[in-house]
Amino acid sequence: MTNAEIVSLAAAHEVGVYRRQPVAFVRGRGCELWDADGKRYLDFFAGLAVNNLGHCHPAVVAAVQQQTATFMHASNHYHTVPAGELCALLCRHSFAERVFLCNSGAEANEAAMKLVRRWGATQGGGRYEILATTGSFHGRTFATLTATGQEKYHTGFQPLLPGVRLVPYGDLPSMTAAVRDETVAILVEPIQGEGGVNVPPSDYLPGLRALADRRGLLLVVDEIQCGLGRTGRLFAYEHTGITPDVMTLAKALGGGVPIGAMCTTARVATAFTPGTHGSTFGGNPVACAAGVAALTALADPELLEHVRTIGAHFRARLEALRGRGGLREVRGAGLMLGAELDRPGAPVVERCLTAGLIINCTAERVLRFLPPLVITRAEVDEGFAIFERTLGT
Ligand code: PLP
Repeated sequence: MTNAEIVSLAAAHEVGVYRRQPVAFVRGRGCELWDADGKRYLDFFAGLAVNNLGHCHPAVVAAVQQQTATFMHASNHYHTVPAGELCALLCRHSFAERVFLCNSGAEANEAAMKLVRRWGATQGGGRYEILATTGSFHGRTFATLTATGQEKYHTGFQPLLPGVRLVPYGDLPSMTAAVRDETVAILVEPIQGEGGVNVPPSDYLPGLRALADRRGLLLVVDEIQCGLGRTGRLFAYEHTGITPDVMTLAKALGGGVPIGAMCTTARVATAFTPGTHGSTFGGNPVACAAGVAALTALADPELLEHVRTIGAHFRARLEALRGRGGLREVRGAGLMLGAELDRPGAPVVERCLTAGLIINCTAERVLRFLPPLVITRAEVDEGFAIFERTLGT
């Protein structure tokens, strides 16, 4: 089938919730993708921070092939080796002592929101309120949508979940003032992704930790986009010197296979007892085998060092374009970078796609760069040759 045939098939049969580009990808390897017409693209988007290891990473492919040929599903009435190994690996590499496995980012955040509510009900004196932040993105289920601090996602879906309040992002005094007797937790992205690659002041997360400790709250970090090596550390909270009580992961955790995880301490995990939460496909052996392979590769110190080095190069290339095509500001960390324009970014994204480079625009004017972490210097420079041409003057 050609691109055009696949596009018209989708238009005739799919619910139209996505604003898709008229391209159908059929194959990927490393930082390259090919569409149905045989055209090659360089990938600076990594499937929205999913393909952190590039497309078809050999260790993930081998793990999936082996697990699918062994057995694919058991149900959570039983134990499996891949799920046990993945939870152990997540605990070994983070603050976490307990993990709940699920299938997506929204589901991981939903689990976190339910966990802190139940912790408030059982150990927190009946407290229930969750403070989230403006500009955030936490998912599309009703709870996570409520915690998503962007009006445009709420339109037409009210009434939303009670007991969730939004506070300006990056603003410690506002968060401090917002805490009240009912508050049980703060939910925050260490770096906001969809909101426009927003980096808070360096004392923000430590300040939230201290606030949480003072007021007996739980601190929940959503690392679904910024975690798993993206910022040059395995987890973004590691840049800040603090540890959270709960961390949510998804996207890159499965190396391209759908998975989510809600990671927490042994103390907080006691709020969930048998029967209080669950998910049929959570901990699925194929997803977990992929997760073990992906997390092992993502935790490699050499890869994380590479992200810091290549991220600095990528950022310098962006900084050098400041003032061109309305490019006003560059921000981010590692290989999670945003370039804010003084105009809408969609036309640049489209021109890049036509020229064979995949980039993204979020929050209308922020060009977002989330390349595979394995990207080489030569690939960065190849992409910038296209980007510079298409950015305009
Ligand atoms: N949290 C953050 C920070 C995200 O970036 C996203 C998705 O972009 C989500 C949650 C929701 O994840 P999912 O689309 O897997 O439900």
